Amino acid sequence: MLPAFAYVRPRSLKDAITQLATPGARVHAGGTDLMGCLRDQVFTVERVVSISGLDELRGLSVAGDGSVRIGALTTIAEIAAHAGLKATHAALAQAASLVASPQLRNQGTLGGNLCQRPRCWYFRGEYDCARKGGDMCYAILGDNRYHAIFGGSGCFIVHPSDTAPALVALEAVIRIAGPNGARSVPADKFFILPSTDFTRENVLGPGEIVTEIVLPAQPRGTRGTYHKVRARGSWDFALAGAAVVATTADGKVERARIVLSGVAPAPWRVPDAEKALVGKRLNARTARSVAAASVKGAQPLSENGYKVELLRGTVEEAILALA
Ligand SMILES: Cc1cc2nc3c(=O)[nH]c(=O)nc-3n(C[C@H](O)[C@H](O)[C@H](O)COP(=O)(O)OP(=O)(O)OC[C@H]3O[C@@H](n4cnc5c(N)ncnc54)[C@H](O)[C@@H]3O)c2cc1C
Repeated sequence: MLPAFAYVRPRSLKDAITQLATPGARVHAGGTDLMGCLRDQVFTVERVVSISGLDELRGLSVAGDGSVRIGALTTIAEIAAHAGLKATHAALAQAASLVASPQLRNQGTLGGNLCQRPRCWYFRGEYDCARKGGDMCYAILGDNRYHAIFGGSGCFIVHPSDTAPALVALEAVIRIAGPNGARSVPADKFFILPSTDFTRENVLGPGEIVTEIVLPAQPRGTRGTYHKVRARGSWDFALAGAAVVATTADGKVERARIVLSGVAPAPWRVPDAEKALVGKRLNARTARSVAAASVKGAQPLSENGYKVELLRGTVEEAILALA
């Protein structure tokens, strides 16, 4: 059952920020994650601030220079279906098309997808785990088959978003508004690891709202893709995934960004794999060596060693798709 809370629907961004500055307030966008968290008492709220009336946070537009602006309230379905985006920033359109189910893509927003809370069963269950302010991560000794193989320290959640790794690979900028004004944060600085703070997944401070996401124009010769493997053939979170964006000239890769999903508490960039790709032709041999480099340094827990091979295969498949 949902606990009682106040529900407000501000008419302006300024009003929304004022409402959010009160203790115990939370943003409500599509509600697909928030309502589950409240129902399951993962956290409590005093005030739910619906931003769904703020039309300035909606919509996706491609500028003349090829850059793209996506309002935080734009639905995942709109992003997946946008023909212009599929042509210019395919990794994001593909990632959006692989999020959840059609119903959830129609209701869920990009801002909510980036700010959704982790799916760890200890965090979501009745455990006073480190992320909820307790003093231990139950995944370390418990059932950890879906947990992190990179970047876990004291907490081994995996970041649940499919769009986040694509945004990091595309060098997106996240625009934020809050009580101290507006600021912009590169996507690769937006998400934080447990080593910085166990209790949150991003840099948002009290009262701050993601307002829009800006994708820079891609250089000529850039291709991108997002691949993910899930436990079920239909909708599900990634067990392992990879966003790859590469720019080629004269048949060789000049620049590459590879960002993993489903394997770390934040989208996980793999510089060794990027280095293994630069200067190479996109072919089966390159795909194998880049995939091997992408799993270097993985530290599986007792029950998730299978993710290493799964990830290797996913990266190889993504590079082959680009070729
Ligand atoms: C069954 C199921 C399967 C799913 N599968 C996948 C999957 O395969 N891949 C995947 O990526 N996701 C998956 N999801 C997650 C789903 O995509 C998210 O629930 C959705 O994107 C969240 O968007 P929303 O607008 O509904 O967010 P809400 O539920 O409204 O908000 C989610 C969180 O983000 C905060 N928030 C929302 N908007 C903003 C903003 N603009 N600024 C600051 N904070 C904000 C809220 O306060 C809340 O804490 C799944 C969810 C479910 C329930």
